[in-house]
Parts: sequence; structure tokens; C-alpha cells
Amino acid sequence: MTPQVLYYIIITIILAGFGFDQWISYLNTTTRSNVLPDVLKGFYDEETYSRQQDYDRDNYRFGLISDILSLLAILGMLVFGGFAWIDGFVRLYTDSGILMAIFFFGIIAFASDLLSIPIEIYHTFVIEERFGFNKTTPKTFVIDKVKGWLLTAVIGGGILSLIIFIYEKSGSWFWILAWICISVFTLFISYFYTTLLVPIFNKLTPLPAGELRDAIELVAARADFNLKDISIMDGSKRSTRGNAYFSGFGSKKSIVLFDTLVNEHSVDELAAVLAHEIGHYKKKHVLKGLISGILQTGVLLFLLSLLLKSSLPALALGASTASFHISVIAFGILYSPVSMVLGIFFNSISRKHEYEADRFAVSLSQPGALQKALKQLSVKNLSNLTPHPWYVFIHYSHPALLQRLAAIDRAELS
Ligand SMILES: [Zn+2]
Repeated sequence: MTPQVLYYIIITIILAGFGFDQWISYLNTTTRSNVLPDVLKGFYDEETYSRQQDYDRDNYRFGLISDILSLLAILGMLVFGGFAWIDGFVRLYTDSGILMAIFFFGIIAFASDLLSIPIEIYHTFVIEERFGFNKTTPKTFVIDKVKGWLLTAVIGGGILSLIIFIYEKSGSWFWILAWICISVFTLFISYFYTTLLVPIFNKLTPLPAGELRDAIELVAARADFNLKDISIMDGSKRSTRGNAYFSGFGSKKSIVLFDTLVNEHSVDELAAVLAHEIGHYKKKHVLKGLISGILQTGVLLFLLSLLLKSSLPALALGASTASFHISVIAFGILYSPVSMVLGIFFNSISRKHEYEADRFAVSLSQPGALQKALKQLSVKNLSNLTPHPWYVFIHYSHPALLQRLAAIDRAELS
């Protein structure tokens, strides 16, 4: 293969990916319906449902425009040799592989973040604001940005240095050693996620004793689930959207409820939501997720190690010398169709897990409580009630609401 051919393959992958995404997103607009489904009567009034349709329309247009801008940015970099230019620039200042990569990715990450700031501002302060979701102040927005940059510099820079160090020292063992390091890091982060990472952005307070804590502890006890750490997070600092999640494993198991969720739902509904989260743990979804993440990293590093042996990617992107960092850019694009296929596969597993966790929750909670919570959440978030089945197949990690409610109906009857 010549560098020229690889260059055209890269361009084709980018254009085909864009075309496919836009086609699926367009399909998703064709199933919009202003007729409210029967099961949500009493939860939505006509005016709010028409706001849902507006929200969907605004988000579709916004997505289209921001996707076009990203496409233009990446095509511009490829057509005008931007990656080769940055590569040449960092080579003026250092010949250390680690420093070159840190400067190279640092410049790209910072520049692309700066370009995306206006898009993020428009999304948060115009669209989310218009529909009453936004609680982020400009101050929080800026502080979040700065914290995000620092975290990326420390964690991203650290891991990148380690991987290139391994690459330079270990030759053909590279991908296995890098795989072990990344896996250990992944386990560390998922173990300490709620204790170390979350507090950087949010305040966590232990759920005080009372009716809600009693109800949750009762569910945990009936599920034979040893749970001590239940916290409330100040999600209302950024948005009115509610959420709950489970993190950690072993002795670091913890459940986090957004304050926005606690304020909007009854104790029975919250207990049902918690039963669902406990279901994910009990049915080993958390463990399976970790293992599959680690396996995917292995496949990715193995394929990357094959590409690193060739100088083709560097030449295709217009650079004169092969390097780790320029190969990673080419690899990122060449791998994107694989990652899309894997994404579809793992989304379908995730949807299956959601059904399983729902069935588990039904067996432990008040009849109807989980459905009521899901309906309220859907209305509150103005979620799309009629997504196109192909869009769901490709993008949804959770089943669409109506299918999910129907499955809970069946579980409650059996
Ligand atoms: Zn779930």
C-alpha cells in the first residue's frame, strides 16, 4: 500500500462515518409524533408534550451543525497537513519521544477544546436554558473547564508518558505491558471513582437517617447486598436533571443519588430506582462491564502495535518521520468503524442488562413504583418517546421508555 492510498482510506472512513451518522439521526426525526402515547396520559399535558417535540427538534439541528463543524475541522487538518505541521513544530523543541507526544497531543486537545467551547456554551446557556434544564452559572462553567484541563493534563499526560516509555523500552512486548498498566489503572479508577474523582466536581453528603434511608436499607437487606455508603450529590449545581448511579466494588461499593432526583420522587419510587441499581451489581453487570472494557483495551492495543511497526501512517498524514503520536492519530481514525461496531454490540448488551435490572427491581419494590419513576424521569428530561428502532439499536444504552414499561408490566404480572 502507498501512503496516498492510506490517505484516501482515512478520508473515506471519515466521510462514510459522517454520512452514516447523519442518515441515522435523520431517520430518528421521521418517527416524531405529536400524539401522546396512552401510557403517559396524566404525566404529560399537551403543552409540555409539544415542548418535548420542540426540544427534540432543537437538539437535532444543534447536533447537525456541531457535527458539520467537527467534520470540517478534521478534514481541514488532513487536507492541509495540520498534523504533520504540529509534528514538525514540536520537533523544533525536543527530540524526546515522550515530550514530543505530550506537546503534540496537548496542542491538539487544547485547540479542539477551545474550538468546542462556543458550541458547549450555546448548548448549555441557550438550548438547555430555554427548556429550563440549565442551572450552571458562568462561574461554574469556567471552573469546570479549568479543573477538566488540569485533570486531563495530570492523568492523560501521566498515562501517555508511561505508555510511550513502555513502547520505547519493550519492543514487541509493548501491547501486553501497556495493557496490564491500563487495566490496573482502570480498576483503580472504578474502585475509587466516588471517593476520589466525583468530589473534584461535586459535593457529596451522606444520606441522613430517616424514611428514605430506612427504605433503601430495607431494599439492600432484602437483596442481601451489603451497603453502607449512600450519598446525595449536588447535581442541582449544574442541571435540573435527576440521576442515580452505582460505583465501586468490594468494600468501596457506593450509591449516589442526585439531590434533583430525591426532591422529585416519592420514597417508594426512589427505593425502586435503588433496587434497579443494586440489580446491576447483583446480576454482575458491573463486573462484566469492567472485564469487557479491559478486553476491548487489549484488542485496541494489539491492533495499534501492528500499525506502529509501519511508517505508512506518518507518510499518509504528510509527516516525514514515523512517530508514536502520529500513528495514534491515524489509528484513531482507522479504528473508528471497529469501535462503532463494538459500540452497537455493547449497547445491545447494556439494554439487555437494563431489562434484567428492572426485573430484579420489580421483585423487590412496590408494584408500579419503578414505572412511575421512569415515566416522571422521562417527562422531566423531555425524552423522546418515539425514537426510530434503528437509532435505538445503534445509540441507546437503555431501552426506549415504552418498551421498557411494557417489559416491566410483563415482569409484574409473572
Ligand atoms: Zn440501569
